[in-house]
This record gives sequence, C-alpha cells and structure tokens, in this order.
Amino acid sequence: MSDLTRLTADEMAQALASNEITSTELTTAHVDRIESVESSIHAFLHVDREGALATAADVDARRAAGEQLAHLAGVPIAVKDVIATRGMPTTCGSKILEGWIPPYDATISAIIRRASLPILGKTNMDEFAMGSSTERSAYGPTHNPWDIGRVPGGSGGGSAAAVAAFEAPLAIGTDTGGSIRQPGAFTGTVGVKPTYGAVSRYGLVAMASSLDQAGPVTRTVLDAALLHELIAGHDPMDSTSIDGPSAPVVAAARRGELKGLRVGVIRELSASTEFSSGFQAGVSARFDESIALLTGAGAEVVEVSIPSLEHALAAYYLVMPSEASSNLARFDAMRYGMRVSPDGVDDPSAEQVMAATRDAGFGDEVKRRIIVGTYALSSGYYDAYYGSAQKVRTLLAREFAAAFEGLDVLASPTVPTTAYPLGDKLDDPLSMYLGDIATLPANLVGIPGLSLPIGVADEDQMPVGLQFLAPQQADDRLYNAAAGLERLLVDTWGQPLIDRAPEVHA
Ligand code: GLN
Repeated sequence: MSDLTRLTADEMAQALASNEITSTELTTAHVDRIESVESSIHAFLHVDREGALATAADVDARRAAGEQLAHLAGVPIAVKDVIATRGMPTTCGSKILEGWIPPYDATISAIIRRASLPILGKTNMDEFAMGSSTERSAYGPTHNPWDIGRVPGGSGGGSAAAVAAFEAPLAIGTDTGGSIRQPGAFTGTVGVKPTYGAVSRYGLVAMASSLDQAGPVTRTVLDAALLHELIAGHDPMDSTSIDGPSAPVVAAARRGELKGLRVGVIRELSASTEFSSGFQAGVSARFDESIALLTGAGAEVVEVSIPSLEHALAAYYLVMPSEASSNLARFDAMRYGMRVSPDGVDDPSAEQVMAATRDAGFGDEVKRRIIVGTYALSSGYYDAYYGSAQKVRTLLAREFAAAFEGLDVLASPTVPTTAYPLGDKLDDPLSMYLGDIATLPANLVGIPGLSLPIGVADEDQMPVGLQFLAPQQADDRLYNAAAGLERLLVDTWGQPLIDRAPEVHA
C-alpha cells in the first residue's frame, strides 16, 4: 500500500485485522509524516515516537498470537494536551504546567491504552482551552494545513490540524464552547461534542466543569463514530458521567438514512436576520446548498427559532470564566508545575510565591478570564451575573427542547466565517468570542453537536462546516444525518473534501 496515512481509520483497522499491514508500519508512517510536516504545522507539543512504536510492536505481537483485539487496536491517535497521560507531559498549552508529567491517566487515556491505540503525542491548544485560534498557546501557534498563514481554529487547533495534515487519523479534542467543532470547520475535519456526561471528564484538566466534554476529531463520520463508541461510557470517577447505555453511534454512521429525516434549520444562525449578519457569504452559500441536498434526498426541512440565542454568548462568557476562575485556583505553585520566587523579596510568603507564579505562568487571556470570573462570582454581583447567566441557560434548554419537538436534528453553519489569517483577531477578544455563537449553545444546554465539512468558500477556498445538533443522549442522530450528507457531498465532489487540501510543504 502506498501512503498509509491517507487511509481512513476504519480502513486502517480493516487492513490491520486482515494482516495486510502491521501497526508498526502504520505508526512509523505517521511519526515520519509528523517529522516531515511539523515545522510548517506545529500541531504537536510533544511527540512520543518510542512510546507509540512500543505500543505498535506490542499490538502486532498480540495479533500474531491470535489475541482478540479492539477494532481500532493498532491505529495511532493524537491526544489534546489538556488530557492527563501518565508518564507523558501534559501542559494545557500553559507555561505554568511546563514539564509536568502526570502520575495518572485520564479515563480517556486509560481507555485508549487498554484498546492498544498507539499514542503519537500531545496536541497544541490555546492555554487551558481558552481561545478560538490556538494562538493563545504559550508554545506558539498551530498553522492551518489548508493555508499555513491562517489559524486552525481553537482551542483544539492542534488536534484538528494533525488530522487534516494526515499526521494522525484520529485525535481527541475537548469542547467547552466549540473547541472540537470550530477547528473541525476551519480545517475540513469532522468534530463531535458528545452529550454532556457521555465521555468521562476524569483527568481532563477542567476549564468550565459544567460545559467541558471530550470527543472525536477525524476525517470521516464513521471514524468519529468508532472513536466515540470507544471513549463513551459510564465512569464512577466522574460524578456527572451518564449512567446508562451509550447511543448506538456506529450503527447510525453506517446507516446515513436521509429519507424522512426531520431537520430544523435554526433561523437565528442561518437566515439573513440582523443577528446573523456577520455570516460570511461563502459560509451561507455552502450551508444553503447542503440543506438543498438534504431536501433532495427526501429529508423534511423546516425553520425553527431559538429566541434566547441572543443572550447565549453573554451567558457563556459569564459561566465559563466563573467556573474557570474557580478551577484554575489549584495552580498555586504548591502542587504542580512552575514555582517562581518574587524578585527582591528575601523570605517570600506563600501568597507572594503564588502571586509571582501565577503572574509569570498564566498568559493574558487566562488572566482576563480569571478576573472576569472572580468578579462575576463576588458577593453582591453573583445574582446579577452568574445567576442571570444560569437563568439564560434554563431558557435556552426549554427553547431547544421545544424546537426539537417533532424533529430529529437541528442544523446551522458551525462558524460564521472561515479560518482567518494568524494575528487577525488577536487584539480584539470580543470579535474572536463572536465566532463561537453557533457552537456554545450546545455546551450551555448539554446537547451533542457534530461539525461536518461541506465544501470551501468561494472567496478564500477555505473549508466550511455544517453543524448538526440533537437532543441529549441522541448522539446517534447526529451520525445518521452527517453520514447521509457526507455520502451525498463526496458523490458530488468525486472525492472527500480533505483530499482537495493543498499538500503541506515543510
Ligand atoms: N472558543 C471558546 C472559548 O474561548 C471555546 C473554548 C473551548 O471550547 N474550550 O472559550
């Protein structure tokens, strides 16, 4: 087989099972690919060549001995650097955790190791997952494989870019307000935020605990379903983990039945209302074409309205910093990572060391959010800010529940624009936050969302994503709808969109 990195993860799994290839060959192809393109992309903060090849050799030996293995056993994977990996650095893209090597595995990492997927390394991200461009990483930005002068989205730009650049067939991302789906849209990859609680958060360094959810980053809908099925499930170590059966996502991804599918297009996020006037022409054009394809295939499409979306961005940017300000209090120079002594103080107090460490260790965006969150939670302001934001969440949950009545899925563009040039929004946090308008509602409400690549915008030839949303624990509906649309699109193009990405040159 010529270039192993170009196969889908499912094809890799099949080729491994039928002994056409070994995991050692497959993993070597990927670490070589990483070595050749990383100087242009910078998707990884840490590459574990030896560790990945050791897992590959082990899985090859066990396969040869006739052992029954997981479907994805031997298929390499990249993991976002916010997920604890025993013996492998975990920095969250922050200086404050530079050099920290967790003494334990996150549940996701443990599942991946148990299923024998070689871990290629840890992917770049905005510091503590705060950002939409991966430019807020303390270790330098990741570049979009479609155009290395542009951002890959964020915070999980490293995972998305690694998959888009064929450095990894599978990656784990985390999504608090869109950090899996938005980079998916920007890089032409599939990104899924499962139902809140479907995937364990144990060992996922917390940003905003009521919003965080890990999920798959892949090049096809079926690959996402295979990874989703692997990582989902109840975990006694996470008190918000769902106790019950996981949605049958793989069967849905294999089905892709569009006939009779009932789709609601979210008016506030797609029609040319004043609210959505910031949507780029090429994004709206591709979205409308996809909706027409769905209709042509026998889906019933109606328009739905979620009036409180108007307040969703404000609510998110109160809830998220509030929870983050509390979660990040643990980085106190006493327990993990960096410790800085204040300049010119002979016998510094613990408080002085904490202040100096947090000042040196956190970047500007993290500090901004800690300040906003601490303010919003302070007595006297709690009801006005955090309390009001929680009420908006309740309103949104009710409006989504009403909108889903009689429908299978809702649809919108994933992001109002395509990937922008590096540096473009760095000095204007508010305009960067606005790009999260279509993704963050799912986190506020706890419902699952999937971003599917649906073409490139005429004006810049950059990928566009369509987002499907489903009710809680109906993640399988996302996979059914997306697999059906993916099949139609690939038939129209004659090839997967990702194959149209320009070759990355080192
Ligand atoms: N871009 C959003 C933010 O900056 C979402 C981040 C995320 O999902 N981790 O908060």
